[in-house]
Amino acid sequence: MVSYKELGLVNTREMFAKAVAGGYAIPAFNFNNMEQLQAIIQAAAETKSPVILQVSKGARNYANSTLLRYMAEGAVAYAKELGWEHPQICLHLDHGDSFELCKDCVDMGFSSVMIDASSLPYEENIALSKKVADYAHQYDVTVEAELGVLAGVEDEVAAEESHYTRPEEVIDFATRTGCDSLAISVGTSHGAYKFKPEQCTRDPKTGKLVPPPLAFDVLHEIEKKLPGFPIVLHGSSSVPQEYVDMCNQYGGNLPNAIGIPEEQLREAAKSAVCKINIDSDSRLAMTGAIRKHLAENPGHFDPRQYLKPAREEMKKMYIHKIINVLGSDGKAE
Ligand SMILES: [Zn+2]
Repeated sequence: MVSYKELGLVNTREMFAKAVAGGYAIPAFNFNNMEQLQAIIQAAAETKSPVILQVSKGARNYANSTLLRYMAEGAVAYAKELGWEHPQICLHLDHGDSFELCKDCVDMGFSSVMIDASSLPYEENIALSKKVADYAHQYDVTVEAELGVLAGVEDEVAAEESHYTRPEEVIDFATRTGCDSLAISVGTSHGAYKFKPEQCTRDPKTGKLVPPPLAFDVLHEIEKKLPGFPIVLHGSSSVPQEYVDMCNQYGGNLPNAIGIPEEQLREAAKSAVCKINIDSDSRLAMTGAIRKHLAENPGHFDPRQYLKPAREEMKKMYIHKIINVLGSDGKAE
């Protein structure tokens, strides 16, 4: 049993309380490898933004869970080395799908876990979420639960049919589970193909797809039911067209990749939405930069040669999100 407190990590409780009161959101960035982690920590340290490092089940399978935990521990020391005196870094399990997985993360030093039982019937979702919350709270680890179903595909999370969170259920759900934050479904979606072309309209000038807007009416209805309660948005990459174009220009094939417009995320960040999950944008920035570098430098074979510009591109993207979309810069001086 390792406590996250010994690792210098923090849970989400204070982060979220401040974010809700201050009308901004905390970035939750997924990482699977060293370059992503370096870019996230450099961006957070430069902007003095609290940050949530997210580890999915897929990331644990890819990189090894013990190694990821030590990397996160190293991230705290690295942040200090970069001159960030009081780093506020949370290590969070993304989409935990069983009590055992959540318990394992709590026991190995995660400061926050998500239990995603949103695919189960309502009462089963409550029972499993409550079981995780009861366990995690013994160690002051915060718990995110989910109500409503998001569309899209990401790692091992996939849903054919989505449905919005029902505002009439949120008080009962939050009260009975004891969760610390609630992931809701209001039109965001996992992955880089968030909407089918037939769900979108087209910009007459550019011919590019324009996604359907988020259901702000549902979000505001939920906020009214749970005043001040931390709300989480999953699947909130904006799928920047410059990275999609960069991938496609240098040999990629990502037709009709589309995300959530940043103006809508910024609007959501001003509400009770206090955690916004961004994963695909980092994947696109990294892949775009690597493709471009290798296309322009066919003789390069040292991974450092192409991972360095990839890391720079991700860092630039993270800083942009922190300052221009989430508004969390300067909130962890
Ligand atoms: Zn998610």
